[in-house]
Amino acid sequence: MKTLSHYKKTDHLALSPHLSTSEYHCKCKNDLCRFTLVYPPTVKAFEMVRLEVGGPVYINSAFRCQVHNEAVGGARESQHLQGTALDLAKPARMGFFEFYEICQKHFNFTIAYENENFVHCDMR
Ligand SMILES: [Zn+2]
Ligand SMILES: [Zn+2]
Repeated sequence: MKTLSHYKKTDHLALSPHLSTSEYHCKCKNDLCRFTLVYPPTVKAFEMVRLEVGGPVYINSAFRCQVHNEAVGGARESQHLQGTALDLAKPARMGFFEFYEICQKHFNFTIAYENENFVHCDMR
């Protein structure tokens, strides 16, 4: 059983030195989407990736509510629904597979989306 942290979507709090709840919230505009689930080991892995990259790492998608997950065509049991997944955009000054290797090192599970320039990372 995973221990998840709950935040309100209106929260703007630091989760770690380089990650805030604002970056973790679901990107939808649905009024019923009011909370965010955060899995602390995912936050820790993000910090490790960021440290190794040596600069900012932009998050395309973190937590998703059910409605938003369906809207973006996410998997039915997507790790984004549980707040354990992050889609990390490749930093501009780095090769795609160089970045992918760093993600693989620190997350339990990764998928490379080379054409879309991001890596799905999760701690399933
Ligand atoms: Zn949402
Ligand atoms: Zn993803």
